[in-house]
Amino acid sequence: MTQYVEKWTLNELKIIYDQPLLKLISQANAIHTTFHDQQEVQVCSLISIKTGGCPEDCKYCSQSSRYQTPTQAQAMMEFDEVLEVARNAIDRGATRICLGAAWREIRDNHQFENALKMIRSIAELGVEVCCTFGMLKEHQAIRLKESGLYAYNHNLDSSERFYKTIITSRTYQDRLKTLDIVEKTGISVCCGGIIGMGEKPEDRLELLLTLSKRNSPPESIPINCLAPIPGTPFENQPKLSIWELIRMIATTRIVFPRAMVRLSAGRADMSHEEHALCFLAGANSIFAGDRLLTIANMPIDKDEEMFRIFGLKKRPSYSTTKSEV
Ligand code: SF4
Repeated sequence: MTQYVEKWTLNELKIIYDQPLLKLISQANAIHTTFHDQQEVQVCSLISIKTGGCPEDCKYCSQSSRYQTPTQAQAMMEFDEVLEVARNAIDRGATRICLGAAWREIRDNHQFENALKMIRSIAELGVEVCCTFGMLKEHQAIRLKESGLYAYNHNLDSSERFYKTIITSRTYQDRLKTLDIVEKTGISVCCGGIIGMGEKPEDRLELLLTLSKRNSPPESIPINCLAPIPGTPFENQPKLSIWELIRMIATTRIVFPRAMVRLSAGRADMSHEEHALCFLAGANSIFAGDRLLTIANMPIDKDEEMFRIFGLKKRPSYSTTKSEV
């Protein structure tokens, strides 16, 4: 019987992460099938409602105004356009719509009012709405919740030690503070990381450890692989091995049995076989759509083909884990 340990140490995580790969995948898979329907994968769709021109200096991001990247700053998308994109994604099986805006923080202005209107209208379509708008204050979190927001994404990216080397325009503590506000307001927390930025495996495990020590561990954990963007400091970062990604997914699943582990950026050139290993290791969500924010993503027809070959079902919105049913 697989045990679920709630309080982890870094050493325990290292032992899990470093064990022989097939043993690691088996252990993660046993936990995954205990808590989730293995055949279900949630499809999410990420809509960038305000692209580019961000004042922050995240070294991996094409939307930072500090770097000369192919991404141009754009005006905020119109309400009707966002709704149309959301409806199309839902028609193709998405049950979680994520809205992203390249803001340092939420401001109390007409753009926020527009975003609240979008959240309310998309939530009325019966799907989970998540948004990622940067730092926020409590009164803004309350307004998001009142508008029907289900989840708020705010990634910690890596360990606190490594975070300082990739972002200087805000601190890890700022991030944790925002997560505290989101949690306090009763909005579901989506928080994960990026691998392949030159961090050590220990940094990835420290991220998981930090998340596991929170009052309520996140219900949604996106695992992104760096997509090097021309013009950013990470443009020449070598590609991460798929085995590192699988180790990270499996370890995340073992530490967070109930969470949705979302295979996020980095799928564009992954084969069906590589996806199969990620799903066996405990990933149970993907972001669908030809583009993911500013980077290429897996073409929609390839994803549809993969769902057919694997016999996967698209997970309904607001699903619970098996143990809660
Ligand atoms: S990751 Fe977010 S906060 Fe950082 S530069 Fe990009 S859009 Fe701005």
